Amino acid sequence: MSTGSINVSVENIFPLIKKFLYSDHEIFLRELISNATDATTKLKHLTVIGEAKVDYGNPIIEVKIDKEAKTLTIKDQGLGMTGEEVEKYINQVAFSGAEEFLEKYKDSAKDAGIIGHFGLGFYSAFMVAEKVEIFTKSYKEDSKAVRWICDGSPEYTLEETEKSDRGTEIVLHIAEDSLEFLEESKIRELLTKYNKFNQIPIKFGTKTETLPLPEGAAEDAKAETIEVDNIINNPTPAWTKAPSELKAEDYNNFYRELYPMQFEDPLFHIHLNVDYPFNLTGVLFFPKLANNLNIEKDKIQLYQNQVYVTDEVKGIVPDFLMLLRGVIDSPDIPLNVSRSYLQADGAVKKISSYITKKVADKMVSLFNENREDYEKKWNDIKIVIEYGMISEDKFYEKSDKFALYPTTEGQYYLWNELVEKIKPTQTDKDGKTVILYATNADEQHSYIESAKDKGYEVLLFDSPIVPHLIQKLEGSKENVSFARVDADHINNLIKKDEPVISKLNDSDKESLKKNIEESINDQKFTVQLEDLDSTDAPFTLTQPEFIRRMKDMQATGGGGMFGMGGFPEMYNLVVNSNSDFAGELLKKDNAEEKSAMINQALDLAKLSQNLLKGKELTDFIKRSFESLK
Ligand code: ADP
Ligand code: MG
Repeated sequence: MSTGSINVSVENIFPLIKKFLYSDHEIFLRELISNATDATTKLKHLTVIGEAKVDYGNPIIEVKIDKEAKTLTIKDQGLGMTGEEVEKYINQVAFSGAEEFLEKYKDSAKDAGIIGHFGLGFYSAFMVAEKVEIFTKSYKEDSKAVRWICDGSPEYTLEETEKSDRGTEIVLHIAEDSLEFLEESKIRELLTKYNKFNQIPIKFGTKTETLPLPEGAAEDAKAETIEVDNIINNPTPAWTKAPSELKAEDYNNFYRELYPMQFEDPLFHIHLNVDYPFNLTGVLFFPKLANNLNIEKDKIQLYQNQVYVTDEVKGIVPDFLMLLRGVIDSPDIPLNVSRSYLQADGAVKKISSYITKKVADKMVSLFNENREDYEKKWNDIKIVIEYGMISEDKFYEKSDKFALYPTTEGQYYLWNELVEKIKPTQTDKDGKTVILYATNADEQHSYIESAKDKGYEVLLFDSPIVPHLIQKLEGSKENVSFARVDADHINNLIKKDEPVISKLNDSDKESLKKNIEESINDQKFTVQLEDLDSTDAPFTLTQPEFIRRMKDMQATGGGGMFGMGGFPEMYNLVVNSNSDFAGELLKKDNAEEKSAMINQALDLAKLSQNLLKGKELTDFIKRSFESLK
């Protein structure tokens, strides 16, 4: 037996560790299971290369609770340690890790992220244990089993002991303030959170299994039950397999394994697999986003060698893909991640751009393989794609191959198809192709109809980020501009070189305009006389594209120049001076009747912009009924 003092400069680091890692005490189990897993896979490697001449067998890791003794034990069948190795790896290496933690902690006390996510390795056991014992026996021939014991002070004891089987057993004597870790439900919860996909099977207790009845058994025969190991993990989850081994169903099953509370199948998956210049595997899923309840909870999970690290993937996964689900696994991401570490890390940046590229490629192939199906899914995926287009240039550059532009008629065009289709009809006299769009097919119905009457296509652009997407498209595509169908009279949205016929002379127009302005008497409306087809509506309200866009951008957090005050409501009242109604108005002598006609027509125009509400609407209906008498 030998006793010694662990070489640390801080007198007693354990109370400190305990204090600073308070919120994340539970990670001790993940750390110890990672060590047990490492020890097992290392042994496998040594047997494969012929270094270790032992039978590898089917090793498992066992987690046991002894409530009476107040111990939690993690036992592996890995390579074990000799006494010398315990000296070296536990007393020196592991402690230096703890010291390093304290060093880092000093500089970053404010960054709770670091403290929360810092992996302390073996010594994290002292966050929950007042005393830790190691029983270990090396795979090496003739090695003697040893027992190490330490109560958290820098003093430890190391002695020979009896242990017949190879491997390591870590016994935690749980401290009074951590007794929750002796609860079966707590341990099961942690194993499920961190080790659901651990590489080595983990046994936690036993369970009863009912054997199938033998053939020809009597009807009243009792089925036999047996006790079997309760293995809590799946050591070979979908992302560790080759895509060629998996069917669509396997991916869906994996999705449910990952998110047991999701009952809807994902729309499609993307299998990630790269080994240069970094290692990364994973499967990402596009969920159906519409009326999805667990967006906050079921997020992309980050693993390191099948050990759960975090679901805070900001910085690793590009922002626009945060709505996806699935798993990313990379040995190059350290277990002890902190957010600030991740953002500064070069490898992590590469991971992000790799994922972006992979998603773009997948979109291209989904589109090419089955366009019809892709179109059906568009409504569910467009938010992600459109967000990607405005936030990631690399993604935007490829988007012509997979971004769809749906029309109010249910047609889906790629960019080039759209432009080719509308160029002959929707190019104005200055050579600009005007893309008409609606944001709400019902509310803008009458405007859409006028555009369709002219033979124009109208896109249905109904995601909230559309103003930003339009800005991006206008800024990068040549000779196109966007206009919402109700931004002006359709003749003005796409101005053609056609002669205009005026029914009224200039002085008539002048007095008509004056009449209307006086009757309406509202700063919100700018009266604008236009020589339109005599069959076009006499009054139409439009909202100039520029003003509406500023408002929309403001609403979605873009740069609005009116700051907190909000953009004032402003409309153009387009008066068709060629309409019969305009002629009637001019002829009317009675000022009161004239004003009533004007206000009734204005209400009709408001109605078609969905602007007639409350008392105005009630009055309008009353007035209209009375006119029927
Ligand atoms: P890390 O795992 O990052 O090396 P740890 O503090 O978790 O740091 O562990 C320190 C060292 O102790 C390991 O590198 C390993 O050599 C040894 N060790 C810990 N647990 C075991 C185990 N279950 N079996 C064999 N060796 C172990
Ligand atoms: Mg470790």
